[in-house]
Amino acid sequence: MTNHLTDALLAGAAADPARPFATTPEGRVTTRGDLATGAARMAAALIDAGVEPGDRVAVQVDKSVEALMLYLGTVMAGGVFLPLNTAYTPSELGYFLSDATPRIFVCNPARVETLAPVAAGAGIRTLDAAGRGSLTDSLPAPLPAPVARGPEDLAAILYTSGTTGRSKGAMLSHRALRSNSRTLADLWRFTDTDVLIHALPIYHTHGLFVATNVALLSGASCVFLPGFDPDAILAAMPTSTALMGVPTFYTRLLSDDRLARDAAANMRLFVSGSAPLLAETHRAWTDRTGHAILERYGMTETNMNTSNPYDGERRPGTVGFPLPDVELRIMADGREVAPGEIGVIEVRGPNVFSGYWQMPEKTAEELRPDGWFITGDLGCIDADGYVTIVGRAKDMVISGGFNVYPKEVEGLIDDLPGVLESAVIGVPHPDFGEAVVAVVVPDGSVSLDEATISGAIAGELANFKRPKRVMFRDALPRNTMGKVQKAALRADHAGLFSA
Ligand code: AMP
Repeated sequence: MTNHLTDALLAGAAADPARPFATTPEGRVTTRGDLATGAARMAAALIDAGVEPGDRVAVQVDKSVEALMLYLGTVMAGGVFLPLNTAYTPSELGYFLSDATPRIFVCNPARVETLAPVAAGAGIRTLDAAGRGSLTDSLPAPLPAPVARGPEDLAAILYTSGTTGRSKGAMLSHRALRSNSRTLADLWRFTDTDVLIHALPIYHTHGLFVATNVALLSGASCVFLPGFDPDAILAAMPTSTALMGVPTFYTRLLSDDRLARDAAANMRLFVSGSAPLLAETHRAWTDRTGHAILERYGMTETNMNTSNPYDGERRPGTVGFPLPDVELRIMADGREVAPGEIGVIEVRGPNVFSGYWQMPEKTAEELRPDGWFITGDLGCIDADGYVTIVGRAKDMVISGGFNVYPKEVEGLIDDLPGVLESAVIGVPHPDFGEAVVAVVVPDGSVSLDEATISGAIAGELANFKRPKRVMFRDALPRNTMGKVQKAALRADHAGLFSA
């Protein structure tokens, strides 16, 4: 037995160690050989520090190539990589660390004193944005060979962003990560001639697994950026071939006049995911650059599930077809629904996680014994097989006993002149249980008021779907992956209809 995940991810490093893997804007180049050696040293350091197979290595660090070496090194050492959002506060970290009981916790040197009290007995090591700290100060000789791990062994635990209740640790096996990266690299035609603009955070499935693993497997190199920066992305485009982003990357780039057909002439692929991409953004991007954004759908628990096609129509507002090795069905009332009907999306395949860390009841609620995972997303499949996501099941509004799917109402409002975007939520109401409320962000081109919006959509919607109130805001609350925080909006407007 070998190390199922890193054998695949680092195979290219052995074959061609001099090939660049990452280039930073400052011009620092890390070759594949550097990456593999760095990872093997990290593995040796972790084993020195007491990490044994199955031990968690929790990490809250800035994005750096060394942080990727730490990811690979943890897996090589037989450990379970546990990345944490850099925005988490000490008390939030306290929950994750006491839940996951890692052997080692790696954090930024500037935070050691604040975080030591919540480390829950883990050994603390440091790593800063430049890749320096107690972890790398005295790295031992590289580990001669990775620790043997099979497909079903855990490689990572990623906590879900969880807008309600405690976040849950999704356990991801070597098989889940390796199979999904292989599928995506093939489907999206990644090769060693690709240069991927890597501007996503690496504590989330999108930047850590989709972007990094696909680049590693295919031999592509990365322009490795610390975060989203339109100047750096526009500067990289003429010598790059692919970008993976969240929808806000695309809306922000569209607001930059420098984005034009010639700026994107060398690019072959723009991928979007982690939150819904408005059909309008999709069309605007095609008009401006000549490229149709490829939208895909996935989540922490499952890696990627669906993708629009590489060849063929990339249909705006849809997330495309199930991946070749992923089964997808839409369920309501315990049965698969007819085509076109809305229900809860379930998926099954090698990409699906192994359960929630130390939460057998939660696992049993969402992961069926026959392998189907109940995603909690609502969606439908059209006659051509394209999947559309209409929102999270928990965001569906039930008003007077009728189901209202926010996306239907949002779509109508978003098309009105003067509207930048909108979010439709359910708010407690004494008569209806919940009332539909629209929160609208104006684009400033025309003046908007509640009556204009209500009047403009009234003819398009059944009475129970019409917003009872329209509220205005300058921006919608979003998390770092660009997801609208509907729970926060509901909390802000909870008292709207109370006596
Ligand atoms: P996360 O676990 O943070 O990656 O969040 C996963 C959730 O993001 C999914 O369950 C969906 O609700 C949402 N999501 C991901 N990709 C898309 C997409 N392309 N369109 C709409 N929602 C998406």
